[in-house]
Amino acid sequence: MNATDEMLLEAESVRRKNFGSALRLHSVIYPLDFCTSGCTYCGLSTLLKNAHGIRGGMPPETFKRLLTELVDVGYRVHELVFGTVAEDQELLATRVARWVSRAREIDPDGYLIVNCDTLQPAGYRRLKDAGADAVWTFMEVMTPEIYAAKHRSGLKADREQRLEAPQRMRDAGLEVGNALLWGLAADWKAELEQFVEWSREVGGFDFVATPVQQTLTLLEGSEVPADFDVNPPLLVTESRYLEICAHLRLAFPDAHLVANTRLDPKFVYGNVSRITDMCNGYVWTGSLSHPKDELAPVGHVRSAATQMDFFNPGSLPGGIQELCPDDVLVELAL
Ligand code: SF4
Repeated sequence: MNATDEMLLEAESVRRKNFGSALRLHSVIYPLDFCTSGCTYCGLSTLLKNAHGIRGGMPPETFKRLLTELVDVGYRVHELVFGTVAEDQELLATRVARWVSRAREIDPDGYLIVNCDTLQPAGYRRLKDAGADAVWTFMEVMTPEIYAAKHRSGLKADREQRLEAPQRMRDAGLEVGNALLWGLAADWKAELEQFVEWSREVGGFDFVATPVQQTLTLLEGSEVPADFDVNPPLLVTESRYLEICAHLRLAFPDAHLVANTRLDPKFVYGNVSRITDMCNGYVWTGSLSHPKDELAPVGHVRSAATQMDFFNPGSLPGGIQELCPDDVLVELAL
């Protein structure tokens, strides 16, 4: 057995010991699909010209119907994802808090995760008051020079305030999630090392997600600035993803480790779930290709507009369970 195989086995054993057989699924909804930040790797980036088929905000009645259906299916953990939707902190907190309140009304006892840009302390308290349980703010990349090159403008360009954000979330009584975007930096081991060290400085994380950068889908006629990352600087293959997840499992033995269906769901549910204990289930990305009156069907959410491509496994947990190993059991609450 080589060193990597040994590490994979050790990671599986840590996952079993701390999380048993449960694989927790959460729903993912993008209530707003526009952003004012200039990140060089994202389909919502303001740097892309003529690339967006922006819908803007999801109509509240659509959000209500969608979340109600997900709750009816049994989903009790929901991640609401926002780009930077205002440069003004007050406005950003107000907009995000409004969606959190709407979600809280629909699922009073569910667990609400907000994935949004960094806020000042008062903003985090507002999210908590509106009903949020956790905030995820992904650092994406640690090395300062790479961070600066990838984040050209907008709130996300302020690396220092992002580094301090986890403490502000905790102070507001929120649980904390973070992640690197794997594929964004070629030296993934150096990134991992810095991420783990930083997590210790800021008191650890309750959730560590594992997003993977992939090639962007662009509309014909889109204008892409030089050195925009249409293709990832580092290709994250399945075996590399597994290795990264195992490293994270060992570095964060007690945190929820969240897998991601931007890779093949058969692999993610079928293999990676031996190491990770959470994964996205249903995904609504905000793409124009989503049907207006029903949940999007199983398959790739690939757009009508520039968007991240995601595999949507459908809303029925039974279908996801079939993809999992026999000793991994799907659950819909934390
Ligand atoms: S990564 Fe986030 S902040 Fe950056 S452009 Fe995309 S949605 Fe906006």
